[in-house]
Amino acid sequence: MSLATNLAVIQYRIREACKRAGRSPESVLLLAVSKTHPPQAVEEAVVGGQIFFGESKVQEAKQKIPLCPGAARWHFIGHLQSNKVRDAAILFEMIESVDSPALAREISKRCQQAARTMPILLQVNVAGESSKFGCSPERLPDYVTQIATLPAIEIHGLMTLPPYAPDPEKSRRYFRRLRELKGRCEEIIGAPLAHLSMGMSDDFEIAIEEGATIVRVGTALFGRRIRSSPPAPEN
Ligand SMILES: *Cc1c(COP(=O)(O)O)cnc(C)c1O
Repeated sequence: MSLATNLAVIQYRIREACKRAGRSPESVLLLAVSKTHPPQAVEEAVVGGQIFFGESKVQEAKQKIPLCPGAARWHFIGHLQSNKVRDAAILFEMIESVDSPALAREISKRCQQAARTMPILLQVNVAGESSKFGCSPERLPDYVTQIATLPAIEIHGLMTLPPYAPDPEKSRRYFRRLRELKGRCEEIIGAPLAHLSMGMSDDFEIAIEEGATIVRVGTALFGRRIRSSPPAPEN
């Protein structure tokens, strides 16, 4: 199937999931995960009306983004090393994968130098898997408290990557858990948080039913990744 068809099908499935959940379709942002795919694929998606794209490696994004249409807007969704933060602060309009106060401090410092503020999501390792990045649910309150005081960072919500399961229904409890954790963070900050980034190609409809405001879809839109790579750890 063509990319335009894939995009239309995903948009339709998002609308239907929103209907089931009694939500407005505008409350869900589709993040097209373009990692490993060339600028031509991004351009095709932009022509089809797609605006937001996700990349998980700074090096790849640094080469790709300048070759993509200027209308494309970029979120970082991978593991971020502190020596890549300076580039990330210029390339991305949101970093979804902040998982420690140390990384947040580095982002804040680099963004101050670049005279900007970075909206971020805190990545939570909801299942406590040792192989995954993300902060543990237990540490989250302390991390939120620390990060909320940084000058050039705004916490906009939480992101998660649940354990892989062949049955997408199995992800539901982790999505629910992330939503509950967002509630706790809102109490700590004393303000609502806009975003829950959860759900990928295989389980985005379930994530929407559980409150996702950003779904990160790669394979269902662009097809199989050119270098086949599982979502998180290698990033
Ligand atoms: C690759 C990736 C995705 C997209 O996964 P698909 O299963 O291809 O839709 C989503 N989120 C993160 C963090 C990723 O690294």
